[in-house]
Amino acid sequence: MSKGFRNADATQELSEQMTTETIKEILEADREQASHAAEVRAHGGYGICEGCGGSIGQERLEAIPNATRCVRCQADWEQANRL
Ligand SMILES: [Zn+2]
Repeated sequence: MSKGFRNADATQELSEQMTTETIKEILEADREQASHAAEVRAHGGYGICEGCGGSIGQERLEAIPNATRCVRCQADWEQANRL
């Protein structure tokens, strides 16, 4: 086993770790959004964008049942919350 292979393994391990972290972050964000959406639904705000107060749109709700913002507000929010 050459040193080159070991280095490749270490790099592989590191990138797998980062992927796991990224997946965990995405799952965590999904869970937060799901419980937030349930709260919004409980208060009768389902389908209403919490950014602009407009309609989120049937198609978007079918694609993303937990959406609480319209496409435009979601894009703005993601830009503002980018790490
Ligand atoms: Zn909006």
